[in-house]
Amino acid sequence: MADFFGKMKDTLNKGVATVSTGSKTMIEKSKMNSCIKTLEDEIKQLSEIMGMKLYNYCASNPDGDIPRAEFVSFCAEISGRNEQIKQYRAKIAELEAEMNQVTGTAASNVPVTCTCGQVNSPGAKFCAKCGKQLF
Ligand SMILES: [Zn+2]
Repeated sequence: MADFFGKMKDTLNKGVATVSTGSKTMIEKSKMNSCIKTLEDEIKQLSEIMGMKLYNYCASNPDGDIPRAEFVSFCAEISGRNEQIKQYRAKIAELEAEMNQVTGTAASNVPVTCTCGQVNSPGAKFCAKCGKQLF
């Protein structure tokens, strides 16, 4: 049985590798896109809570000081999520570049060189090395 699968694997080698890389990339990409969506929803909720807290505070204490520490901690929550979104987007760009290399379906045939020196796949929107947005 092991031999049978071993031979089949050898025979199908190249084609299977291409297909599985592509679908794995698609799955990872959609997972990360849904993580980004969740983070964006959380940022929206945090912003709403923060705005409402500020309203309640100012409405009930028009002459009081703003409880700064509380709002700074909300800012940290939001900033942390923005940073995660940035990392997911860079990772998605990396996967897209990888997929373009595998399938050869790049939008353009000109590689994009980042200011960091990394040569990215044609059509890449972000640098695969440093995550910088490419123009
Ligand atoms: Zn770069």
